Amino acid sequence: MAERLLVKGSVVVTMDDGKVIHDGAVAIEGNRIAAVGKSGDVEKNFKADEVIEEPKSIIMPGIVCAHTHLYGIALRGAALNIKPPSDFTQILQRIWWPLDERLTNEEAYSTALAASIEFLLSGTTTFADTYSAPNGIEGSLDAIARAVNEVGIRGVLSFEATERRSREEGLRGLKENERFLKKKDKGRAMGMISLHASFTITDDLIAKALQLQEKTGAPITIHVSEGPGDLYHNLERYGKRTVERLRDTGLLSPKAVLAHCVHLNDEELKILAETGAWVAHNPMSNMLNAVGVARIPDMLSLGVNVALGNDGYVFDMFENIRSAFLLHRVARRDPTVIPPRKALELATIDAARAYGLNDLGALKPGYRADVIVLRPQMAATPYTGDIHAWIVNGVKGGDVRTVIVDGEVVVWDRKLTKVDIREAEQRVLKTHERLWERLRDMGEAVEPLRMQ
Ligand SMILES: [Zn+2]
Repeated sequence: MAERLLVKGSVVVTMDDGKVIHDGAVAIEGNRIAAVGKSGDVEKNFKADEVIEEPKSIIMPGIVCAHTHLYGIALRGAALNIKPPSDFTQILQRIWWPLDERLTNEEAYSTALAASIEFLLSGTTTFADTYSAPNGIEGSLDAIARAVNEVGIRGVLSFEATERRSREEGLRGLKENERFLKKKDKGRAMGMISLHASFTITDDLIAKALQLQEKTGAPITIHVSEGPGDLYHNLERYGKRTVERLRDTGLLSPKAVLAHCVHLNDEELKILAETGAWVAHNPMSNMLNAVGVARIPDMLSLGVNVALGNDGYVFDMFENIRSAFLLHRVARRDPTVIPPRKALELATIDAARAYGLNDLGALKPGYRADVIVLRPQMAATPYTGDIHAWIVNGVKGGDVRTVIVDGEVVVWDRKLTKVDIREAEQRVLKTHERLWERLRDMGEAVEPLRMQ
């Protein structure tokens, strides 16, 4: 591994206050960025051990995915023997919960390996994952961390605590987060705390999660009003809307990441702005599950913190970025909402900040050296106009040629450097063939939601 690495390209898109440098370079020393500037200027003061130079290339920070479920990759193409769900609660009850009940630590590892590889090859260098497996809780985060470190990506890992089946399982889920947070030498894996959703947890579990946050300082994540069921549950049981209930428990702070937030009223948006809580927006997943359109343009104009995730669906984040850019235009019939630069910030600097990673997501001296080099298949127009628009409208994950994480080249010429992809694919497929066999009886095994 070169100690002093120089990356040169046609344009450096820093995501640092919109700064763009033509004929630029990024100097990396160890695992930190040493300098960013015009190639000539950077080279004058930096003696590199190794130079990466790609003609017609775009250099930018690695993409950060603010909300994912790596195990979602196991469902791709699955033909399930179930009555087709007609709303989001049924999607959970008929698809996601029967799936997570069949997961063991073997699938925790195999899904993490497969999804981490897809992320890395398409330019995502950091993700925040929420894993769920009520019959495979203990040790699951170690299995995911093993995959993370094998491929060399960064992961903020958590187990999704839920009381949908029992109080005891909720506590065991939290314990797994605590165990992993306290574990030493996790490599590129980090820990956080995860609660499933307001409608599957009691105030008592939230209080325990907040105690753990107090002890560890870790971020806490939860699904919020993804479908209308969450909202109705809170109105019926607590006489409050979802965000109001969470505010009253003390959960909302800049260290909270709320996934989705689709069914929110004006008052709830105001609460988010006041508390500094983050929203992880997942436009492609929202479209897939037909849950509605989150009020992201309103959130942004009110100063709500927003970041972008994939929710375990489509691991090429450039597609998710493009979807965030397009969805709100059509929903509002307004081509000015979510400008291209903002769409990119949501999945770089903003997503890193959502998890307290304040030295990640931009190319800036002193920041962690997570850098990607893109070479579009056909650079039909110059990069001299709005390069953020160029990327949002024209780039896809397959254009990523080189990926550097923590100063280490983990993808070179579109190939993983630390893992043999075909060998990994074989292992993953074998595990998932067996998982799909266990999924055949999903139709009969639908668990009703026991919590009222
Ligand atoms: Zn999710």
